Amino acid sequence: MAIRIVGGGLAGSEAAWQAASRGVPVTLYEMRPVRPTAVHKTDRLAELVCSNSFRGDKLDNAVGLLKEEMRVLDSLVMRAAEAIRVPAGAALAVDRERFAEIITQTLAAHPLITIVREEVTAIPASSEREPVIVATGPLTSDALSGDLASVVGQAHLYFYDAISPIVLAETIDRSKVFRQSRWDRSFRGPDPVGPACGIDDGEGDYLNCPLTRDEYEAFYRALTTAESATVHDFDKEKFFEGCLPIEVMAHRGPDTLRFGPMKPVGLVDPRTGREPYAAVQLRQDNLAGDHFSLVGFQTQITWGDQARVLRMIPGLEAAEFVRFGMVHRNTYVNGPTVLAETWQVRARPSLFFAGQMSGVEGYVESAASGLLAGINAAALAKGEAVSSPPRTTAIGALAYYVSHANPAHYEPSNITFGIIQALDKAPRGKKLRNLALSERALADLATWKARPEGRALQISAGPLAAVGDWPP
Ligand SMILES: Cc1cc2nc3c(=O)[nH]c(=O)nc-3n(C[C@H](O)[C@H](O)[C@H](O)COP(=O)(O)OP(=O)(O)OC[C@H]3O[C@@H](n4cnc5c(N)ncnc54)[C@H](O)[C@@H]3O)c2cc1C
Repeated sequence: MAIRIVGGGLAGSEAAWQAASRGVPVTLYEMRPVRPTAVHKTDRLAELVCSNSFRGDKLDNAVGLLKEEMRVLDSLVMRAAEAIRVPAGAALAVDRERFAEIITQTLAAHPLITIVREEVTAIPASSEREPVIVATGPLTSDALSGDLASVVGQAHLYFYDAISPIVLAETIDRSKVFRQSRWDRSFRGPDPVGPACGIDDGEGDYLNCPLTRDEYEAFYRALTTAESATVHDFDKEKFFEGCLPIEVMAHRGPDTLRFGPMKPVGLVDPRTGREPYAAVQLRQDNLAGDHFSLVGFQTQITWGDQARVLRMIPGLEAAEFVRFGMVHRNTYVNGPTVLAETWQVRARPSLFFAGQMSGVEGYVESAASGLLAGINAAALAKGEAVSSPPRTTAIGALAYYVSHANPAHYEPSNITFGIIQALDKAPRGKKLRNLALSERALADLATWKARPEGRALQISAGPLAAVGDWPP
């Protein structure tokens, strides 16, 4: 009985802690400092590569709920974060150096954990009593990526992420936007899954934010002077032409955006009866009916500046961002075709994927998936039932999303209340509704935690059939 974990990031470290806490010996392989990545700067485990924030920490916020659930399940990541939290209002932010130090020292001192500093170039052999967790993150080394592709199939492994920002529908000023498809018609491009990066040509219903010439010029100035995210080596890689960040397009000339993602052709503003000077299209996001994404607006602008610049778009002045835009190297699998909700590979249940490469997004979500993968790998090694908390909990909803969302449009997701099973009777008002969801989640998690054997899940071999658009 033993577990091997590849990757000592947020997911791998949490998985090691959970498994060792259940009495199972763990060998944790981390390639740094022998082989560095393009973004990590130290040899510490669980290094935070960018922001030092774990985001909101209140129960009316989905990531706040997820963190509370992790505390209930005795998360090492949460324990370390609490120990060295720094003032950050309603968010949980940490001293990044000390955070990684605490995790590294805690795991190194654990009598059941052995840390091996080497690059793993092929997925190790696994069996029920000796499961393997792969948690090598968005910057999984090339050799291992190649082997991963042979296990999950090349078509189910992605290497790049171009993400457009998503806003909460109820924060869009409907008096300034209008609903229309371009040319009043829906059509698909020659590619059956649609154009690259979601750059739209009119399919479906869109909310359109029209801009006058003055508004466009002010927006253009703000965009081209906004602060871009830290440039790491990997950012120097060539972008696909169809996935260029908007600020890169803007730097090519003042009108490039008006002929790209902000083109107004085929749109008529009902208030003027004319084509606007420029327009931003918002598309209802698959994830939940109350989210809209800005079509073709992938960007590397820092999150603070993104909020400031994007709120200059008419209709988005008070927009609340569910997710900011990004373009970065990101190795991840198509979760729904590869994984079960226990984070086991369907076709090989003694193998688990966890963290960002399993198809989640964010520090907390990565650590949460490692937590559940660690619990389940330990259960498997001990001959016990594997299990996932119900979809009424944040951690269970995340597991369900990763394993059941529509594979045709799969995108890694942060936790949101939109993927948690809705309440039968929801109180009025967003805050009260979210608090009620959190209350139910924590009660259900307590029941799950106290389960005698856990709900045994049957892991079927082979990919899962598509289950339609989210939510199912
Ligand atoms: C540039 C960038 C910025 C990001 N910024 C944020 C942010 O601000 N906030 C946020 O919430 N999320 C952010 N993310 C997303 C994500 O949450 C983090 O990447 C997070 O660290 C993922 O956790 P993980 O455990 O999956 O991977 P990681 O924390 O990256 O851990 C993976 C570990 O595996 C090791 N490894 C890789 N290959 C091998 C191998 N073959 N053998 C042995 N070890 C290996 C790596 O060295 C690394 O230590 C960012 C991602 C990127 C790429």
